[in-house]
Amino acid sequence: MMAQYFSLKRDHPDKLLFYRMGDFYELFYEDAEKAARLLDITLTTRGATAGVPIKMAGVPYHAAEGYLARLVKLGESVAIAEQIGDPALAKGPVERKVVRVVTPGTLTDAALLDDKRDNRVLALNSQRGTLGLGWISLASGEFRLQQTSIDELSSELERLRPAEIVLPDGLDIPLLAQLGIPSQRLPAWQFDTESSTATLTRHFGTRDLAGFGVDGMHVAIGCAGALLEYVKSTQGVQPSHIANLAVEDARELIRLDAATRRNLELTETIRGEPSPTLLSLLDTCATSMGSRLLAHWLHHPIRRHGKLAERLSAVRVLRDAWQGVRDSLAEVGDVERITARVALRSARPRDLAALRDSLKALEATRTLAEQLDSPLLQQLAGVLPRESDVAALLARAILPEPATFLRDGGVINHGYSPTLDELRAIQQNCGDFLLQLEAREKERTGISTLKVEYNRVHGFYIEVSKAQGDKVPDDYRRRQTLKNAERYITPELKEFEDKALSANDRALMLEKQLYEALLDELAAHIAELKLIAQATATLDVLATLAERGDTLGYVEPEFVPGVELTIENGRHPVVEAEVDRFIANDTRLGAERKLLLITGPNMGGKSTYMRQVALITLLAHIGSFVPADRAVIGEVDRIFTRIGASDDLAGGRSTFMVEMTETANILNNATEHSLVLMDEVGRGTSTFDGLALAWAIARALIDKNRAYTLFATHYFELTRLADEFAQVANVHLSAVEHKDSIVFLHHVEDGPASQSYGLAVAQLAGVPGKVIREARRHLAELESQAASAHRQPDLFAVPVAEPAEPAPHPAVDRLGDLDPDSLSPREALALLYELKKMTI
Ligand code: ADP
Repeated sequence: MMAQYFSLKRDHPDKLLFYRMGDFYELFYEDAEKAARLLDITLTTRGATAGVPIKMAGVPYHAAEGYLARLVKLGESVAIAEQIGDPALAKGPVERKVVRVVTPGTLTDAALLDDKRDNRVLALNSQRGTLGLGWISLASGEFRLQQTSIDELSSELERLRPAEIVLPDGLDIPLLAQLGIPSQRLPAWQFDTESSTATLTRHFGTRDLAGFGVDGMHVAIGCAGALLEYVKSTQGVQPSHIANLAVEDARELIRLDAATRRNLELTETIRGEPSPTLLSLLDTCATSMGSRLLAHWLHHPIRRHGKLAERLSAVRVLRDAWQGVRDSLAEVGDVERITARVALRSARPRDLAALRDSLKALEATRTLAEQLDSPLLQQLAGVLPRESDVAALLARAILPEPATFLRDGGVINHGYSPTLDELRAIQQNCGDFLLQLEAREKERTGISTLKVEYNRVHGFYIEVSKAQGDKVPDDYRRRQTLKNAERYITPELKEFEDKALSANDRALMLEKQLYEALLDELAAHIAELKLIAQATATLDVLATLAERGDTLGYVEPEFVPGVELTIENGRHPVVEAEVDRFIANDTRLGAERKLLLITGPNMGGKSTYMRQVALITLLAHIGSFVPADRAVIGEVDRIFTRIGASDDLAGGRSTFMVEMTETANILNNATEHSLVLMDEVGRGTSTFDGLALAWAIARALIDKNRAYTLFATHYFELTRLADEFAQVANVHLSAVEHKDSIVFLHHVEDGPASQSYGLAVAQLAGVPGKVIREARRHLAELESQAASAHRQPDLFAVPVAEPAEPAPHPAVDRLGDLDPDSLSPREALALLYELKKMTI
């Protein structure tokens, strides 16, 4: 047996091997130690090799799913070896085979998957600066690829959030180690374009890849092929629901870099929590398919105004109809994932029952959606089932409430198979038959005490007391002799016994066959079911956006060509839900007004204001209504943010280094259609360095990038940029000092802030009074020094007492005394040297 174990383990050295033994999956050696540690199960020993006991740990077969879920969450992959031979027939150990490999990125079991998140496995490769990507979501059948620059890697990882990464041996990408995503190395030749092309054409049954629009994407094709092979190797069956390969067209999308996706807290807070985020606020979806698609939309805002107009008109129409649509969708299960399990032949009986009920419910949804006046809704309604053949088939085939496991029987409906009905009737009619038989035999033999009975050891028998023994007919065969009675069997009873006992086994077997045949029949409908799932998810998201817009008081955004961003009474969607009273604010940006310099105290609301502009812009670009009274939005190609100080310690970059890396990215890539948020850039270094950098960065954004820019700063000097550039406007967040305290009004007003209230905020935060008083004294000193040095650092912009007239520079005195007309050229030259000397 151990020899068999070793040969299986050899094929899966880096996975935990679950080795089926009776009712347990056993793990051995290091696997056992690891599993014992990770799962907190008992480590024991069994037998020995070369005198050393073999370490072993096991989990019960019926509870394996829970353990698998925990292992996969920890990033482990598990190979499952089942007994495929019949233990009764086997000489020596039963034959075993790895039937499936469970890896973090290739899960499809409902129990192992998060309902609300897509689970993707991503293959990547990099060649001479070109990044190839291919990804599969096995639970939905999505298969995509993309080829871009290696610089986009971190943004792409943040966008796709893969559960697992597959990459070639020898490719070194330090970022992956930092992110801690489980990864799998494959031999580099598997990423070869030629062999991958062969894999892909074989799978799709095409002559070449011309129809997929992947021309010239050599690195990405290599990834796609390697990935498909990998996914197949984990499943043990053909993933026939992966029926298409699509190129992700980044030009269609507003690009968001990795920092922006994190900073805007779209689907996760900066700390990695699921709420409060934009998704947690908006996700009231009726189905988990809708929740997943909404999360996808938030990470994939689209640029084309035409497509947005379609979505917006659907949301507008649904504002009066979302209730009914959502009620009908509430009856719908996860058709997308069930379809994938049907294709992978792992669908459970209850999956099929849910599919049947969902398709039925969607008929009602279709009727509702058909009545709504929007081209997009009409199109979606057209995809939903009217009188679904699949639903009808499942209604015939599956019991209204089938058992959880096929192995227990009780899955296939009555009337679906005459043979099955008969077998079931035998089991049910057992009692009746035996009573009839007893009555008949009593009459035939005249033995009034005759009994027909059953026990597990001897099966069915007719019991006759010894006293009546002489009346027993010839066709009775003795089965067992007791003290006072004899037990007999007759040919008729024997025949019944064979039928009854085997009926149960045969019924179970037949149900299994019928179920398999049903899955075969459903396989022909996979493509149709996938389309239905997509349409359902889209309709759900649109109805959810309508409900949210309605409930939260959002307005439909207007799109215009060119450069404009006008928001009246805009609100931050998430902060608004957290505070008692949110102060709405306007934003006005356009070709003539491109950079807002935002000043004001800490806690004044600068970050909130900047983020709200980005979130409103983003929401508009998924087709949602937005939290404002009015929003007019021009063309937008990217959103950049440089917000907050976070050390990338794992990556070995200090706060300031992170800040400057992100800034460099913005300066190199922002265009006049990009929205750029800069929060306190230049803070991580000395005051004058920082100020100088911030100044130069702001100028570059105005002059060169000409991006829509919101620039929050503490450097009051920067407010003078408005004098230099017509496109720069100063705004500030207002606050008032009341006695010794400060009240934030959170209101954006024109012009620069009059002061920064740093000490007042510190006091509010509970910095001890003694420290505050000392700071105040020191501030006064600094201010008077600054004033007397005749510099104007203006760091705190507190009105400074007019300094005493300073003594003029000696050079000025010298010039004042001078009579140019009386100088010879030679004297003039000498004087020039003298003046120069005085200034050094
Ligand atoms: P800053 O960036 O200026 O330090 P924040 O934007 O972080 O300030 O805002 C601080 C807090 O003030 C927020 O957490 C929020 O509770 C509150 N706040 C900000 N803006 C508003 C607003 N417009 N209306 C109501 N409360 C706000």
